[in-house]
Amino acid sequence: MKVVACYNPRARGGRFQREIPRLRALLEEQSVDATLLEISDADFNETLCRKLESETFDAVVGIGGDGTHFHLVNTLLRFGKSHPGRPQPRYVFLPFGTGNNIAKSLRLKPGPRNLPAAIANLTDGIDKKLDLGTWSGYYFANALSVGLDARILHFRNQMSERLQKHVLRRLLHAYIIYALATVRAMFGTCRFRMEILVDGERWYEGGVTDVVVNNTRIYGGEFDLTPECRADDGLLDIALIRSRVEYIYRFAFAYRHLPGFLRRLFVANHGGSAWIQARHVELLVDGPVPVQVDGELFPNSSTFRIGVADGAVTVKVGTDGA
Ligand SMILES: [Mg+2]
Repeated sequence: MKVVACYNPRARGGRFQREIPRLRALLEEQSVDATLLEISDADFNETLCRKLESETFDAVVGIGGDGTHFHLVNTLLRFGKSHPGRPQPRYVFLPFGTGNNIAKSLRLKPGPRNLPAAIANLTDGIDKKLDLGTWSGYYFANALSVGLDARILHFRNQMSERLQKHVLRRLLHAYIIYALATVRAMFGTCRFRMEILVDGERWYEGGVTDVVVNNTRIYGGEFDLTPECRADDGLLDIALIRSRVEYIYRFAFAYRHLPGFLRRLFVANHGGSAWIQARHVELLVDGPVPVQVDGELFPNSSTFRIGVADGAVTVKVGTDGA
């Protein structure tokens, strides 16, 4: 198997760097012919395209968090579009982020401890066609959300940057910074008017705090807001949250490690108005609101037209399926 393995040197606060010798050894052990490519924000797109143009690979392996996968998947699909005659390599997620939503949704185990299993999965895993969400010329594997979550992410990024060189950074787990950012975002304006059209029909109009459009099921690291979500059904799963109070209890009941009967209780009482499945969704807001896509912030906007590209990318999942 011939792969190009792209890694984000800043993944897990830069700690991935020390895993590289082990990564090389494991790839060799599995007889994987791998080219390692360090990607940085500025030039990874061009570097990867040049590589894909000059050689044929069985797979592009992305090593990093959901944001890294977002950029690499977009580069891979753009390359496929501009080179229609070339077979599109598979995309393999090697999860090394904080939330790892995509990996958890596909039942891939993240982090350095699971590196041997992840490399074995390269050769032994099953090929699976994965849908991708589409928005404004981009593809997303996990989720797009509009409103409070994007605001939280904005504050999280701000805090992480400020703490970068601070001694506290080593003591504060990424989830604690997230919790602090959540509290801060909650005190600001959290409600706006929105009209939601699903497959061309009006589904909702009124006050909104947060809307999550899921392609893969796990969101925010540990939450399952849309229990029927599958990444191969040609549908997006849209979760609507109308207020701050609803935000708190929806996420509390969506915590994926909660006992099953508690989760089912909530689902039984809220199905229908809390989420919906559709191929197309339009979010029309009365003013610009924050938006995040697979953990990446984009400029505020007031109109969002979101669709789904069926089986747009072939990925590797474990032998227990996903
Ligand atoms: Mg789906």
